[in-house]
Amino acid sequence: DGESLVVSFGEMLIDFVPTVSGVSLAEAPGFIKAPGGAPANVSIAVSRLGGRAAFMGKLGDDEFGHMLAAILRENGVSDAGVTFDEGARTALAFVTLRSDGEREFMFYRNPSADMLLTPAELDLDLIRRAKVFHYGSISLITEPCRSAHLKALEVAKEAGLLLSYDPNLRLPLWPSAADAKEQILSIWDQADIIKVSDVELEFLTGGDSLDDEVALTLWRPNLKLLLVTLGEKGCKYYTQDFRGAVAAFRVKQVDTTGAGDAFVGALLSKIVEDMSVLQDENKLREVLRFANACGAITTTKKGAIPALPNLSEALAFFEK
Ligand code: ADP
Repeated sequence: DGESLVVSFGEMLIDFVPTVSGVSLAEAPGFIKAPGGAPANVSIAVSRLGGRAAFMGKLGDDEFGHMLAAILRENGVSDAGVTFDEGARTALAFVTLRSDGEREFMFYRNPSADMLLTPAELDLDLIRRAKVFHYGSISLITEPCRSAHLKALEVAKEAGLLLSYDPNLRLPLWPSAADAKEQILSIWDQADIIKVSDVELEFLTGGDSLDDEVALTLWRPNLKLLLVTLGEKGCKYYTQDFRGAVAAFRVKQVDTTGAGDAFVGALLSKIVEDMSVLQDENKLREVLRFANACGAITTTKKGAIPALPNLSEALAFFEK
């Protein structure tokens, strides 16, 4: 049955991460190829946790594109919704690891294949067969991918899927901060579930992420669940009927890349099996504790995809 399928829409790319920190791109002695892209990470997180997942997007018909499709398949994620662009190349990000621990990115997107997905290339039946449709905002930045994204959203909504949105702000990719804010909020009304990080909440509202009144300015009448992730402070949740916070697990953090994607993947892997999680606060809290556990595990290892937990690892950690 296609019933319990999570389809994740958006970009998949390769991060080139230097082997040492604190030097410029040009001075790095070497790079590690790290596959990523938030929507792709989420699809792999869902699959590793035992859920059925498909990724939908466009890759270059080049070595990197085929490597990424193989990574999806190796992780049990369907690549049936992936198309390959014959002209443009797969998106790449060149990372600088600053000595203060922050990351800086330079992107190859001139344009990259992911930006060139057209509405006609969408596998609409794949969307219609699924139960959850997850997406970000990077695919809104330029045409024709923007139209493809809006079309996919429309079809998912018509088919009655649960819509899950993680704007996953990558500010350097946008023409301006004002544009990012406007575009990210332009599809806010459509989602059933929205997850933002504390940083994104502050970017979108200009207020304090720990203040419930500030978070609730992002509430919309049709929304079923608003989540705010707070790193080592765990997460907060808001629904029509209840709100609260769930504490994080204590871990020794090595690299936070992918923690938010593991969190979302864990949440969706549970919700796709039992939608009543959205109405039952006890169930929701249990699921968010599991999502916090998966986020925490991901911070204990380098990289995004390599760090995403599988089900046995997540359960062992969660039940400890
Ligand atoms: P994002 O990657 O979107 O910025 P966060 O960094 O807030 O998201 O991480 C997502 C979730 O992962 C958090 O809600 C939390 O449960 C878990 N997490 C992240 N960082 C830590 C940490 N240092 N210790 C424990 N849990 C963490």
